[in-house]
Amino acid sequence: MDHMNSKTKIAVEMVKTLTPDQRREKLVELRAVVAELECTCPHEIVNRCGQAICNICGQDFNWWCEDSPDHVCHYYSSAHDGKVYVLLIDDSETDFQSTKDPEYESEDECLFCGQPRQRL
Ligand SMILES: [Zn+2]
Ligand SMILES: [Zn+2]
Repeated sequence: MDHMNSKTKIAVEMVKTLTPDQRREKLVELRAVVAELECTCPHEIVNRCGQAICNICGQDFNWWCEDSPDHVCHYYSSAHDGKVYVLLIDDSETDFQSTKDPEYESEDECLFCGQPRQRL
C-alpha cells in the first residue's frame, strides 16, 4: 500500500468500518465516478514499451504511433465532404492525405506509420 497517498490511506481505513449496506452504497457511488472519469478523460497518451497508454485513466490504445497526431495507430479513414479523415481518440477528425487507395486499407497496416497491427 506504499503507492497510496495519505488521502487514499485515510479512505481505505474508513472502508474497514463500513457495514455491508454502506459498502454497497459506496461501491455504486464510486463506480459512477470512475465511469464518468473514464468516459470524459482528456487522454494523455504516453509511450509505454511501444504501447499507447493513457497516463490519466490507464486505458490501453494498443500501439504507440510516432507518426499519427494522437500517437495511436489508426487503420481506417473515412471520406466525406470531398475529404479524407481519420477519427482520433478524442473523437475529432484529422485531415488525412492517403497515400494509397482506401480500398486497400486494412487492419494490417497503420495509415500513419505503416506498421502492422500484429507485431512480434
Ligand atoms: Zn484517459
Ligand atoms: Zn502507426
